[in-house]
Amino acid sequence: MFVLLVVLPIVLTIWLLIYAAHKATHVVGRCKKCGYDLRDLGDRRACPECGFPFTVNRRGDVIS
Ligand SMILES: [Zn+2]
Repeated sequence: MFVLLVVLPIVLTIWLLIYAAHKATHVVGRCKKCGYDLRDLGDRRACPECGFPFTVNRRGDVIS
């Protein structure tokens, strides 16, 4: 019972904080280095703003 009442909420809180931090730093469609919007750049595979290389998957998500 101790595990359910004390440890589980702590673990969930830590997990949520890590998840939120991860999501904030990995915005889909943005340059990892400068945050430039990389969607709809056609066949380009480098950020026009800073030159950071990236790839795009079939859904159009930017993968650096
Ligand atoms: Zn960039």
